[in-house]
Amino acid sequence: MISPKPVTTPAPAFAPPQRKLMGPGPSDIYPEVLAALSRPTVGHLDPEFVRMMDELRVLTQYAFQTDNRLTMVVSAPGSAGMETCFVNLVEAGDQVIVCRNGVFGGRMVENVERCGGIPIVVDFPWGSPVDPNKVEDALKSHPEARILAFVHAETSTGARSDAQTLCALAQQYNCLTIVDAVTSLAGVPVLVDEWGIDAIYSGSQKCLSCVPGLSPVSLSERAVARIQQRKNKVQSWFLDLSLVMQYWGDGLVGSKRSYHHTAPVNTLYAMHEALRILQTEGLENSWNRHQRCHERLRDGLEALGFRYLVDIEYRLPQLNAVFLPAGVTDEANLRRRLLDEFNLEVGSGLGDLSGKIWRIGLMGYSARPENVDFCLDAIGSVLS
Ligand SMILES: *Cc1c(COP(=O)(O)O)cnc(C)c1O
Repeated sequence: MISPKPVTTPAPAFAPPQRKLMGPGPSDIYPEVLAALSRPTVGHLDPEFVRMMDELRVLTQYAFQTDNRLTMVVSAPGSAGMETCFVNLVEAGDQVIVCRNGVFGGRMVENVERCGGIPIVVDFPWGSPVDPNKVEDALKSHPEARILAFVHAETSTGARSDAQTLCALAQQYNCLTIVDAVTSLAGVPVLVDEWGIDAIYSGSQKCLSCVPGLSPVSLSERAVARIQQRKNKVQSWFLDLSLVMQYWGDGLVGSKRSYHHTAPVNTLYAMHEALRILQTEGLENSWNRHQRCHERLRDGLEALGFRYLVDIEYRLPQLNAVFLPAGVTDEANLRRRLLDEFNLEVGSGLGDLSGKIWRIGLMGYSARPENVDFCLDAIGSVLS
């Protein structure tokens, strides 16, 4: 007889603590989004689900401010959105100019290499934005380059780069652009059509305040044309947009769909709800709310002796990277106390900034004045 190994200790149900998430992501989830997750699961080709996906595309187009038909939600986290853009657009031997001013620019370099492309890396100090002058020098000295890739909002440092200027430069030098908007989307303006962005990806769990695990993506007609001219198949079967689009449809409402993979049905309900909340609030109100909360937090943090890593004109409201007050040496212990005593999560520094800075997130539903005040009180209390 076939029998499984006996269970010695039955697993208890997991009861997560109720935290306040004020780190680099995930952010607190909107209650309506959590409720949407528990709605009845339907088939991933159910006509009602397909109708929801059509709406989801329109909502995603609103978030990105684009009419791009190739706009969809990748069934995997932001890193998969990044990979979708690179594997579809970069072919072996392609030169790609990659701007690196933090962790995520470094991941773009990795992506180019793994696609067989040739990365031309332009480095900037961590905490600084990408300098368009240095990018123009690279574009001039590499006339063969086909793509310019950069991170709009570098979550490892809290620096915002000038996406509009960088995209205009790329066009001037005949390059497509790949833009990381994982942390920027809904927190600061991201205008895909107006700025002429060719390929952009974001994440569900930052300023959209949806559960982690999805990545909205959008590609311009120029990017689609580049994919159609590929000499070789995309090396990733799962992320090959020519296949994925057979499931998402060709961008026309009600277009025919066929099975590619089983969509994360309930997670997509959650995304639909998060984007609906964004649409109802309005992008401009969302940007302003993030900015107001940032200013409130900044005043309080500076009064406690924290100093910002990034110069004021390049600071992201949704990601506050701050040096600890002079004399504070046990930052890991303080963060642990914030978690244990206040159920408050803030982020640590990465790389060279590890142990030196905190990254305090004000993303999506977390960006509320009462959270700012709670966070300042908690930090004041553990510092004293
Ligand atoms: C969080 C983040 C990612 C990766 O997203 P995951 O959902 O963690 O895979 C990529 N780029 C930036 C700028 C990010 O902040």
